[in-house]
Amino acid sequence: MSTAFLNGDYSVLETVKISPMDRGFLFGDGIYELISVHDGNLIGFNLHIDRMKENLSAVEINLDWTHDQWREICNKLIDKNGAGNLAVYLQVSRGVDTKRHHAYPEGITPTVFGFTSEITTSQENNQTMVMPMKISSAKDKRWRHCNIKSTALLGNIIHFQKGQSEGNDETLLFNADDEVTEASTSNVFVVKDGVVMTPLLDNQVLPGITRLMLIDMLRKDGSIPIEECVVTMSQARDADEIWLSSSTKEVVPVIALDGNTIASGKVGPLWEIAYRLFTEKKFDY
Ligand code: PLP
Repeated sequence: MSTAFLNGDYSVLETVKISPMDRGFLFGDGIYELISVHDGNLIGFNLHIDRMKENLSAVEINLDWTHDQWREICNKLIDKNGAGNLAVYLQVSRGVDTKRHHAYPEGITPTVFGFTSEITTSQENNQTMVMPMKISSAKDKRWRHCNIKSTALLGNIIHFQKGQSEGNDETLLFNADDEVTEASTSNVFVVKDGVVMTPLLDNQVLPGITRLMLIDMLRKDGSIPIEECVVTMSQARDADEIWLSSSTKEVVPVIALDGNTIASGKVGPLWEIAYRLFTEKKFDY
């Protein structure tokens, strides 16, 4: 049985209850973070909490907990739930109101919830364990604040499910101009002629912490050029390699898009370099 955190208390996950009048439940009015833990070590902790604080301020939820306060909650959850490969999920909603009214209510206390789950994807620091993905594509029909890590994920879920229904692992999203934004639960990297490209950050893309770390690692390493730029769907279809990134997947190669193989349909050599780099450096952040 796993232990969860709710508003200061730690208890068995299945027994934790929130009010149906919580605005997170009624409106998806909240934000969240998901931090990977490998062998008890949090990956990119400060970057995740920085992003959470930016998100809280973007949606005007007043909660000024320090990095240390968040770290203490994460560490307690890890202590109580085992130090294997875990994802620590943290969610802050605006809180419980007495009525259902769209305007932000005054004077309510944010609801803070945290729990852990085991990471089931292979992150054994062994590239032969990484399962390459086959993905679908779809026009990005989410809202225009995709840079906020909102708990209102119905748009993402619908897109993710399309990929699943087509027998694929993920769904690559593109905007009205046929430019790649991201995938439904991941950021995207497209490789062509030895250059790695990833869409620029704007309101269409979540600023993924794994994306940020990987870009920094590739730049510092210097052996593969990396560009943040517009990436079109025709570039994606014609790519030598495509990778997806997220805290739980880390960096995963894609071998087919909409039923067509990417290049030879095999894991590419640049992904192998990126994977090794990420595995080596991930605890530095
Ligand atoms: N993009 C979307 C839509 C996501 O949901 C996620 C992760 O949940 C990511 C990108 C990757 O973000 P991170 O690397 O911070 O996990």
